Order: sequence, then structure tokens, then C-alpha cells
Amino acid sequence: MTHIITSLCLRDSGCVEVCPVECIMPGKPVEEWPMFYIDPDTCIDCGACVPECPYAAIFPEDEVPAAYTAKGGEFISRIDLVGDYEGTNHHGDKVVLKTVKKLAAGEVVDLTKDTPANYDYFSKGPGYSAKD
Ligand code: SF4
Ligand code: SF4
Repeated sequence: MTHIITSLCLRDSGCVEVCPVECIMPGKPVEEWPMFYIDPDTCIDCGACVPECPYAAIFPEDEVPAAYTAKGGEFISRIDLVGDYEGTNHHGDKVVLKTVKKLAAGEVVDLTKDTPANYDYFSKGPGYSAKD
């Protein structure tokens, strides 16, 4: 199994620093890969990244919610969305996303749709060549 980063990720980068096997990478280019991604072949399921995420975006693969109910005000970030987000990451660096949607309280989102991207980034996306 592996852990999975979902579209609640706003590129804060905090998870990267605690991963003992360095298997979390920022998606690039951001317009095509707006989240951070976990290499499923390297993740050892230690769970250290989960409490580091300020947006609670990381789950064990078998616990990714198919019906995530929004508290209201959180963002999801997917390439098929068109909203703007500006913030800062763990290091105080600016984060700008153009592919977000602000969720309304009670809105239900299927976060399992984000699981394939974690695999794809490393099997056929930019993470594939980065691993060589
Ligand atoms: S800590 Fe959360 S928001 Fe930050 S990069 Fe990791 S998954 Fe994304
Ligand atoms: S569960 Fe552990 S090994 Fe897997 S991505 Fe998170 S910190 Fe890294």
C-alpha cells in the first residue's frame, strides 16, 4: 500500500521534510500537476506526513474518502478547475494556483479521483524521469 495526496493539497511542502524515504515530490509544471505527489513504489506507509499537512490532504490509500464532506472554506486543486488561490508555503514562499475551487460547507467531494495522479506522476509523468 501507499499513502495518497489528495486535491486538498495546497503545496505547503511540509510533508516533504518529514518523509524518511524522500518519496514526496512537488508536481511540475504546476498547471498540469497542481498537487504534491507520493511515489507509491517508495512510500513505506509510516504515516509521518499525515499530521504535517495543514490541510489534512494525506490519507492511507484505503482510507481516501469517496465522500469527503467539506467544512466550508477549504480548497481543492485539480487541473479541470479554474479558480484562483494565493497563499504561502511552509517556508514562507508564495504559492499561486489557478486551478482551485473553494468548497462550501456540506459540499461532498470524491477524493478517490485523486489517487491515480499519485501513480501517474511517477509512472508516466515528470516524476518518472526524476527517479532515474
Ligand atoms: S503538507 Fe499537505 S498541503 Fe503541504 S505539500 Fe504536503 S500534502 Fe500538500
Ligand atoms: S507515509 Fe511515510 S513514507 Fe509514505 S509518503 Fe508519508 S512520510 Fe513518506
